[in-house]
Parts: sequence; structure tokens; C-alpha cells
Amino acid sequence: MSSFIELENINLTYNKDKDNAYQALFDINLKIKEGEFVVIFGPSGCGKSSLLNIIAGLEDPDEGDVSIEDRDLLSMNEKEKVEFHCNKMGMIFQSYNLISTLDVLNNVALPQMFNNKRKKERDERAMQTLERFGVEKQWKKIPTELSGGQQQRIGIARAIVNNPQIILADEPIGNLDTKSANNVMEIIGDLNRKEGKTVILVSHNPENIIWGGHIIYMKDGKIEKEELKGPNQVTKIERKEGKDKSDFDRMLDKLKGLSEEQIGLMINPLKARLLTEAFLIPYEKNQTAVMEKNVEMYLSKKIEDNEALSNLDKDSDHGGANLDFRTAKNFIEEVSTIAKAAEVFNSKNDINEKVLVILEYLGNKLNLSIEDDDTSLKLANSIKNRVSNNMNHGEFKNLLDSSSKKEGVGLDKRVAKKIAKEVDLFLIVNYGASKKETASVKEENLGQKSQNQNPFQKKVDM
Ligand code: ADP
Ligand code: MG
Repeated sequence: MSSFIELENINLTYNKDKDNAYQALFDINLKIKEGEFVVIFGPSGCGKSSLLNIIAGLEDPDEGDVSIEDRDLLSMNEKEKVEFHCNKMGMIFQSYNLISTLDVLNNVALPQMFNNKRKKERDERAMQTLERFGVEKQWKKIPTELSGGQQQRIGIARAIVNNPQIILADEPIGNLDTKSANNVMEIIGDLNRKEGKTVILVSHNPENIIWGGHIIYMKDGKIEKEELKGPNQVTKIERKEGKDKSDFDRMLDKLKGLSEEQIGLMINPLKARLLTEAFLIPYEKNQTAVMEKNVEMYLSKKIEDNEALSNLDKDSDHGGANLDFRTAKNFIEEVSTIAKAAEVFNSKNDINEKVLVILEYLGNKLNLSIEDDDTSLKLANSIKNRVSNNMNHGEFKNLLDSSSKKEGVGLDKRVAKKIAKEVDLFLIVNYGASKKETASVKEENLGQKSQNQNPFQKKVDM
């Protein structure tokens, strides 16, 4: 028996036999099992949508075979194909593709036109599906009266109204802000995990790789490679705002089960996101995007800090973030200060020297002045334990602010919170900078623990 979805030797040329012929897909072979969450990842223009459209039966290849549940898609006539598509597949698009002249209810009811139910039943089913995604109150509105997140939930409702086995999603969160995007991805994730639907998601954004159990990397119309994650490794993002979870802890959660290469792809965008979010001023969505992009390029050493600064200062017509110059300068200075400190941190082999780098960073950043040696020593030791991952964010924070009698550092609660947050950012920026050194931090720390040395006999200079 063949796989649930199987593509063999697919080639696709647009405008075949014309002057502007363009081959978009080359020799695609692909097998997808039922219940998989597939992510098709690759740069813009590499052929992801073309491939998805072939699976959907919306585009015919020049040659090759497409079979879905042992049915040969290419030998069907148009009517069979439309029916098959309507019953088996739900499609979700970046631009929602809702019909602007129909109200929400009719948009969602529409795909049922090909089954034999009465209008009343179709409407009821559409309404139930809207309720499921919390958009039932909008049933009478036309799509343009709704937010992007609402429109996409209606897009999803339309996609699943016929209870299809397969969900095809083409950049479904490309137009959404972070919160709506998470919401939509959770819905799609649930359709896969809880209802066993086979999901094929197309994205150019490496952050979305984490959702998939089967990743297809595309480039220039070809599949470059595929990766399968074991069933237990499929990442489920922990979104509960666990009291003890910090951004760094959550980042580690996100990276669990990913290959080094996947991490390499998404780490700098992720760092850039977290750094930008840590700079606590609410920005417009497109400003944030420009800030993140520039931080990412800076972290990847594609641009220097002054270039990032001038990019942020530019107005948005010229691709800038339109930030006030001083705000931009402040922001870039913070980013470069922490990035440089992380570099110095990495250049040190000795764990105690590493901790000193953080202490110096904290001292400058937070204007700390800790007079007594005992407190400095305790702070240094707590940081050492946090950096070596011997304690989580919550434990670290508690240790910082509990009173010195209880072995705590005894700092003011607000100071403790600030330090914990800064150390967290430090860990984020530093993550993956050097595998070897991270390992050696761990080893040394164990040694240190057993010998119970006191590394901070010299006064910590803060
Ligand atoms: P992706 O989804 O990865 O961004 P697409 O599959 O949309 O890429 O497009 C792959 C290539 O095929 C692109 O170079 C695109 O310009 C071209 N292409 C896509 N659709 C058409 C079309 N209908 N006619 C001609 N060229 C097309
Ligand atoms: Mg596309």
C-alpha cells in the first residue's frame, strides 16, 4: 500500500511551451503518513505553494503521480477532483481568501455546497464551527469588518466545516501579529494532535519549523532534505505562564528535540524577538518587525551596530523603523552591550571569570552597588548556579531576594527581579555561542561544587 499522500517524480512548469515558461518544481518525490504534521520550509519563491497546490489538486504537474489514500488524483475529472478536494481537504491561506461579498456565516457554509445537506443543516454546521473558534458573534458581518486574527479563525472554520482529514495551510500566520499568530497555530496544532488530522503547513519562517514532526526543506524548486522527528519529540510549545519559567526557559523548551541545524536557523530570529520584546516600549507591529530584523542581522554579524542604528532611524518608506533617534540609539546600545558582554563571557574558560563578566554587566546596566562582601559572594554564587543551569529562573529569583539568614542573597525584591531578568537575557543572547564552552562550564562547575571552593575571595568589583 502506498503512503497516505504520495507524490512521485513531480515536475511543474508554468506557462509551458511559451516564451515565459518557468519550471517551478523539479522531480519531487514525497511520502506523507496519515496524522503527520508536515512543515514545508524554504525561502520565498522556492516552490512551496506550487507543491501545496499540486497536493490540493489545484494545479496539475507536467508529469508525475499524485495519490491520496490510494486514489490517483491526476486521473480524476474536474468534477471528481472538486468533490474530492471539498471532502478531504481544508485549505487555509495567508490572505484568508474569504469572499468579501458574503457574510461570515455564508463564507463558512460555502464548502458544503457539494454535499447533499439542506441549507438549514449547512448553516447550523457552519454556526457550530464558528462557535468552536469563538467567532460566532461575528456571523452577520462581512470579512473586512473583522481583525486579521478573526478573519483567519473564520478561514480555519471554513477549512474544517466538512471535517476533512487533511489541512493544507499556506503561510497561515504571515499576516498576523504575534498573539493572533500563536492562537492560530495552537488551533492548527490541536487539529493535528487532538483530532489526528494530517496537517501540511507551508512557511518561509524558520520559527514555524518547531510545529512539525516531518520537515521538508525546499530550495530552487527541489526538496533539499527531509527530517522526521520521533513521535515523542514533536515539540509542543509550553505557553502556560509558569511562575518559574522565564523567557530563557521557554526558549529552551522551544528548542527541545530540534536538530542543530534547525536551531541554527531559528536561533537568531528568536533571540532578536526576545531582545526586542525586552525593550519595554510598545511599538507598532511593523516597527517591531524592522527592529527584530536589524537585531537579527546584528547578532548574525551581517551588519555593525551603527548600521543597525541608521536603519532604525530611517523612516518606514525607506525600510526603517521610524524610531526617534535617541530611542533607536538607546535600543541598539542595549543590544550591543549585552551582545559584547556575551562575547567576552564566551572568551573566558574559567567559570568564575565568566561570572565576573556578568557581574560587571549587571553593575553597569542596573547601577548596582553592593557594599558588603558576603552579599557579593552570594550573588556571584547564585549567578554561577543559574548560568550552569543548576537552578531555574524561579529558584534563582527566590534565592536573590530571600533573606540572608536563609542562605539567600537578601536583595530588595525589585532588584532581585531585575537581576533575574537581565541574567535571563544574557543567557538568551549567549545561547549556542559555543557548544564546547557550555560543556566545560558544566564540568568545571561540578568540580567546583565537590571541592567546595570559594572562588570569590577577591572582592567582587561592582
Ligand atoms: P513559494 O510559495 O515558495 O514562495 P511559489 O510556489 O509560489 O513559491 O512559486 C515558485 C516559483 O514559481 C516562483 O518563482 C513564482 O514566481 C513562480 N510562479 C508561481 N505561480 C506562478 C504562475 N501562476 N505563473 C507563473 N509563475 C508562477
Ligand atoms: Mg507561497
